[in-house]
Amino acid sequence: MKITFWGVRGSIPTPGPDTVRYGGNTSCIGLDGDDGTILIFDSGTGIRLIGTKLAPLSPKEIHLFLTHTHWDHIHGFPFFVPAFIPNNVINIYGPPHFDKGLKEIMSQQMVYSYFPVNADELQAKIQYRDLKEETLIIGDITITSKLMNHPVTCFAYRVTENGKSLVYTGDNEPYYNFLFNSSGIDESERTEIDMIVKEQNERNVAFIKDADVLIADTQYTDEEYPSKIGWGHSALSQTIQLGLLADVKHLVFFHHDPAHTDDMMDSIYDHALKEYAGSGHTGMKISIAREGMEIDL
Ligand SMILES: [Zn+2]
Ligand SMILES: [Zn+2]
Repeated sequence: MKITFWGVRGSIPTPGPDTVRYGGNTSCIGLDGDDGTILIFDSGTGIRLIGTKLAPLSPKEIHLFLTHTHWDHIHGFPFFVPAFIPNNVINIYGPPHFDKGLKEIMSQQMVYSYFPVNADELQAKIQYRDLKEETLIIGDITITSKLMNHPVTCFAYRVTENGKSLVYTGDNEPYYNFLFNSSGIDESERTEIDMIVKEQNERNVAFIKDADVLIADTQYTDEEYPSKIGWGHSALSQTIQLGLLADVKHLVFFHHDPAHTDDMMDSIYDHALKEYAGSGHTGMKISIAREGMEIDL
C-alpha cells in the first residue's frame, strides 16, 4: 500500500509563508491499496487536493474513514469533487455521537446557512456506516477501529494488507487520572482510577503493537502540554514512548499545532530526534509528516 499525506495540520488550516514547507491543510491521509482499493482517512482540507486528483478517474468507489467529526477532520468534505460526480460511490465510515448518526452529523455542515450545496444534492452515491470497535474487510485490506482518548468519540484505525500494517491514531491523548489534582478522592479511589488508566493505555499499545508505520498525534511539545491537559492531544515524548512500547518500526509525527511555524517544526523535530538518540533506543525510525510526503509499504 502507498500512504500519501494530503493534510497534516491540526485544529485549523494554516496557509501563509510560515507554513509552506510542512503545509497548512488539515488532516487527510490517502491510502492506495496494492489491490487498487482507494482509502482516505479524515476529510480535513487536504481532501480537496486528493479529490482533484481522483476526479478525472471517475467513476470510482472510495472508502472514507473518519477518526471523528471535529471540524478539522470533516471541513474539507464539501470541497471533495468526487462527491459531485454521478456514478461515483463514496462510503463514509466513522463514529456516531450518542443519538446522532454519522449521516446527520456530516449533512449538517452542508445546509444552506453554511454552504451553497445541500448534502442531498451531491450527485455521487454517498453511503454512511456508523462504526463501533470492529473489523471490516475491503478487498485485500483489513481495517480495525479502536476507541481513543479525545473529548468526542474518536477512533484509531489499524490497516493491514499483504502482511504490512499501518496504524493512524487520529486525535489522541494518553489516558490519565483526570482527578489527579482533586482532594475529593481517597487513596483507594485514586489507585482504582490509576489501574483503569493503566489498562486503557495498555490496550492502546496492544492495538498498535508491531505496526510498520504509526501516524500519531503529536500536537504539543512537552513544554506546551501541561497547560493543555484534557484537550485530547499528545505531547511528543508521550507519542515516542507509545511507539517504543508498541515496537513500531516507523513513527510519523502528525496533527501539527497551528501555532508551529516551519522553523519551529524544524527545531522541534531536531530536539525530539536528539532526545530519542540519547535515550539509547534507535530501532524506530521517526519522521515528521509534511504535505505531499509518501510512504510505500
Ligand atoms: Zn483534530
Ligand atoms: Zn479532534
